[in-house]
Amino acid sequence: MQSNEIRRRFLKFFENRGHKIIPSASLVPENDPSVLFNTAGMQPLVPYLLGQPHPMGKRLVNAQKCVRTQDIDEVGDNTHDTFFEMLGNWSLGDYFKDDAIQWSYEFLISKEEGLGLDPKRLYVTVFEGDENAPKDTEAFDIWKKYVPEHRIYYMGAKSNWWSVGDNGPCGPDTEMFYDVTKNGLGDLSKEEYLKADSEQKVVEIWNDVFMQFLKKDGKIIGQLPSQNVDTGSGLERIAMAVQGKSNLFETDLFAGAMEVLKNLVDKYDDRPARIVADHIRTSIFMITDGVLPSNTGRGYILRRLLRRAILKMRSMHPGEFNIASEGSVFFEIIQKFFEIYSDTSYLIKPETEVFEVIKNEELKFRNTLEQGLKEFESGTDPFVLFTTYGFPVELTVELGRKVNMEDFNTKIAEHQKLSQTSSAGMFKGGLANHNDKTIRLHTSHHLLLAGLQAIVSPTVKQRGSNITEERLRIDFLCDHKLTDEEKQKVEAWVNDKISKELNVVRMEMPLVEAEKIGAEMEFGAKYPEVVSVYVIEDEGGNPISKEFCGGPHVSNTRELGMFKIQKEEAVSAGVRRIKAVLG
Ligand code: ATP
Ligand code: MG
Repeated sequence: MQSNEIRRRFLKFFENRGHKIIPSASLVPENDPSVLFNTAGMQPLVPYLLGQPHPMGKRLVNAQKCVRTQDIDEVGDNTHDTFFEMLGNWSLGDYFKDDAIQWSYEFLISKEEGLGLDPKRLYVTVFEGDENAPKDTEAFDIWKKYVPEHRIYYMGAKSNWWSVGDNGPCGPDTEMFYDVTKNGLGDLSKEEYLKADSEQKVVEIWNDVFMQFLKKDGKIIGQLPSQNVDTGSGLERIAMAVQGKSNLFETDLFAGAMEVLKNLVDKYDDRPARIVADHIRTSIFMITDGVLPSNTGRGYILRRLLRRAILKMRSMHPGEFNIASEGSVFFEIIQKFFEIYSDTSYLIKPETEVFEVIKNEELKFRNTLEQGLKEFESGTDPFVLFTTYGFPVELTVELGRKVNMEDFNTKIAEHQKLSQTSSAGMFKGGLANHNDKTIRLHTSHHLLLAGLQAIVSPTVKQRGSNITEERLRIDFLCDHKLTDEEKQKVEAWVNDKISKELNVVRMEMPLVEAEKIGAEMEFGAKYPEVVSVYVIEDEGGNPISKEFCGGPHVSNTRELGMFKIQKEEAVSAGVRRIKAVLG
C-alpha cells in the first residue's frame, strides 16, 4: 500500500466515525511567534484544545505537515526525518480513552478499513504513574481487550506524560510500537522491548495523548472539565510498517530519490545520501510554504539544510561542480518528490520555482566557499572562517586541518547565545504565545490592514504577518512607498477606531459564505468548509474589518491603547512591510 493510500484511508476511517477532515496548516505557524515551524499536528489546534470551540465541531482529523529541526542529528538513522506528515485525530471534549484506543487499534489492524498490519508485531506503552499523577490503569485495561497483556508495558513520565509548562492541561499518553524486523521478534519482556526500541527494531508509530488533568503552578489540581484526545502518527513511519521496510528511506516516499542517488553519484554512501534526500525534501516543503533562504529565523534553517545537502552531495559526487544545474542529481531528486506528492495539494509552487531558489542558494554558497577558501589558505581560524565567512567547519576538516570540535562547538554555542537570543527563543517549540500583549497586537493587525485598504488603496492585500510581544509586522501588496501623509492618516484611522470602542466579534460560517462577504484570507492558505471569521463593527453595526482567523482577539478595541507605526519599508518588488506597536 502506497503512502497516498495510507493517508486517504486514515482520513476516511475517522470521517466514517464522525470526524471532520481539516486541511494541513502551513508549515509556518500563523500568528505564532513562539515557534519557527509546526512540529506537531496539535500545534495549529492549540486554541481549540484550550477550550475555544472549533468551527468544524468536536471531532477532527487531518494530515499535518511538520518540521522538527531538533531531530536533524538523527537524520540518516532509520526513523527520523526533518520533515514528516503527522496523521492525527482529535476529540475536543468529546470521546476519550475507550474510543481513541479502539480506533487506533482498528485502524492499524483492520484489513478492510485500515492498514492490515500484523497484530503480533504490535507493542504498547502506558503511563506507570508517579508522585504527581496516578498509574493509567484505565488505558491498560482498554488495551487488554486488543493486545495481550505481556506486550503492554508501563513506562515513566519521560516517555508517557504530556504537559506544557506549569499551568494548563496535561495527562498521560499511550504509544504504539511496531516490529520492523524481517522475521519478527515475537513476545518481548520489558527489557527486551527497551533494547529493541533503542536498536530501532521496534519503532514508535503512534502516540495518543489524553488531556485529562489541569495543572496549576506545577501541581495537578483536578480533572479537566472538558477532556481532549490528541493523537499523532507519522505517515513516513506508518509507511515503513505497512511496506515491510526497516527504514524510512526505503518507503515509496523516498524510493525515487534514493534510486537517483544510487544510480547517479560517484561514491554512494547510505548516510550522506539519506541526509541529501531528507534535506532536499524538507527544503521543497519550506519553499512552497513561502520560506526563502536568509541569515535569520526560518530562512536560516532553510539555508542550513540546503548548504548541508550541497556539502554532502559534494562529498559523494566531487566531479559535479554545479550541483544544482538542470539535469543534475539535485534536479532529478526534486522531480521525484514532486511526482510523489502530485496527488496531494501540498506543493503549490511549480517545481521550476523551487529549483530556482535552490540554484540561487548554491550560487551564493559557492561564492562563500571561494572566499572562505582564500581565507583558509592564509591560515584563518576555523571559528572565524565559520562565523565571518560562513565557511562550514566540515569543509575545514575535509581540507585537512585539525579542528578541536569540542572547543569549536562551545565557541559556536556562546556566539549564538549572543547573536541569536531573539530567534533562539523560537526553538523552544510548544504552545502559541497567547498572552495579552500578542492578543492586543493581533487585533490591531486586523485594524491596520483595514486602515491601509481605507486610506492607501482597496487593492492592498496581506502577504505575510508576524507578531511578537513587542510589535506586529505586516507584509502587503502595494505598488509604492507610503508617503508620510499616508502613514499619518493610516495611524489616525486606526486610533480613531480604537477610541470609538468597537466590538470585535467572532463568527462561524461556511467557507463559501465567508468568501462571499469578502473576508480577508491568508494568501495561498487552505481552509476547511466551515471557518471562523473575526469582524470589527463600527457604531452602526457595519463591518470595517473581516478576516478569516482562528484568533484569539480582544473583545473591544478599547483594550488596545495608542497605535503607532514604527517603520515602513520594501520587502520585494510590489511588497511593503510595516512594523507597528501599541503604546
Ligand atoms: P521519537 O522518540 O521516535 O523521536 P517522538 O516521541 O518524538 O518520537 P511524538 O512527538 O510522539 O514522537 O510524535 C508523534 C509521531 O510522529 C511519532 O509516533 C512518529 O510516528 C512521528 N515522528 C516523530 N518524530 C518524527 C521524525 N523526526 N520523523 C518522522 N516521524 C516522526
Ligand atoms: Mg522525537
